Amino acid sequence: MINTEILIIGGGPAGAVCARELIRSGKEVLILDKDDFPRTKLCAGWITPRVFRLLKIKPQAYTGGLLKFHKLYFHFGKRTVAVPTRQYSVRRYEFDQWLLQESKAPFEKHLVKNIRKEKDLYIVDDSYAARYLIGAGGSNDPVGRTFFPENAALRSASQIVALETEFPYPYTDQRCHLWFYENGLSGYSWYVPKANGFINIGIGAKQSDLKSKGETIREHWQLFTEKLANQNLITGVEIKPKGHHYFLRSAKFHSQKDRAFIIGDALGLATIDMGEGIAPSIRSGILAAQAIVQGKNFKLSGVSRFSIPRILFPF
Ligand SMILES: Cc1cc2nc3c(=O)[nH]c(=O)nc-3n(C[C@H](O)[C@H](O)[C@H](O)COP(=O)(O)OP(=O)(O)OC[C@H]3O[C@@H](n4cnc5c(N)ncnc54)[C@H](O)[C@@H]3O)c2cc1C
Repeated sequence: MINTEILIIGGGPAGAVCARELIRSGKEVLILDKDDFPRTKLCAGWITPRVFRLLKIKPQAYTGGLLKFHKLYFHFGKRTVAVPTRQYSVRRYEFDQWLLQESKAPFEKHLVKNIRKEKDLYIVDDSYAARYLIGAGGSNDPVGRTFFPENAALRSASQIVALETEFPYPYTDQRCHLWFYENGLSGYSWYVPKANGFINIGIGAKQSDLKSKGETIREHWQLFTEKLANQNLITGVEIKPKGHHYFLRSAKFHSQKDRAFIIGDALGLATIDMGEGIAPSIRSGILAAQAIVQGKNFKLSGVSRFSIPRILFPF
């Protein structure tokens, strides 16, 4: 049995940043993740300046590829609004590994299956024992599944389904495009160029709305890729997307029970308007770490429910 003070399950942004904070406060931490890093994470990789502010670093300190957008192009039917802003794109393949390395946390590759509480300790797969347990395992987090089953019942209304892919592509349009409500979709699709010649395209929508209209996200994907070809944004390549789901913010989700916490997508923190989850995940990781260090209850103060104000006023 491996003993540690704090066991974090999931080495994505929420888990890595939580570990970073805890280690800086002298705590003993171990991160478990089912994947070796770098690992592929389905995500457009659009981030706001707030991410760097939360990490207390300048964007230049980030060593992976970073593309800066001075405007975002919002398309509503035939109308286009170019919104002056300051945003960035990163590749999650690089960004998450960088965050994990920055945390300086010990890491073990391990797929967590079974968790139980025994007296004062959380026991994971009969192999790890910890006084504190942090669920940062994303949408299928095992800590949430085990200790917070009531959250699952609240989730169906806030589930977002997404299709997405990222690949090297000699793009000529360096702008970031977002199309809203195309073909009646209750969500949006995106074209996000990345540094070093990568492109990310995807589409996301509320599952409950798709279901009520008898539609699938795949049907919308087909229309979306036809649009990209017609506009000469992506041509001549076979595009195979992958699917993922995650949850928008609900005020009702429980986040702490005794010394078990859930953070990031495990808790369902993506913003209601844009489905932005990286900054909220990072903020929740910091807050959970502070709660442990200060012996206080974990409260989600300052985890914004909306992205649009930060897009319009990023400074
Ligand atoms: C298609 C798509 C596009 C998105 N685009 C954006 C965007 O542009 N900007 C933005 O801010 N947000 C975006 N998001 C949301 C964002 O990706 C998430 O909010 C963010 O990744 C959450 O971070 P996390 O650390 O909580 O979880 P994750 O990044 O999902 O990390 C969870 C980790 O836990 C590990 N894990 C899971 N289960 C286990 C287990 N049983 N045992 C061990 N390890 C386990 C996983 O391997 C993973 O590494 C998007 C999401 C999707 C699906």
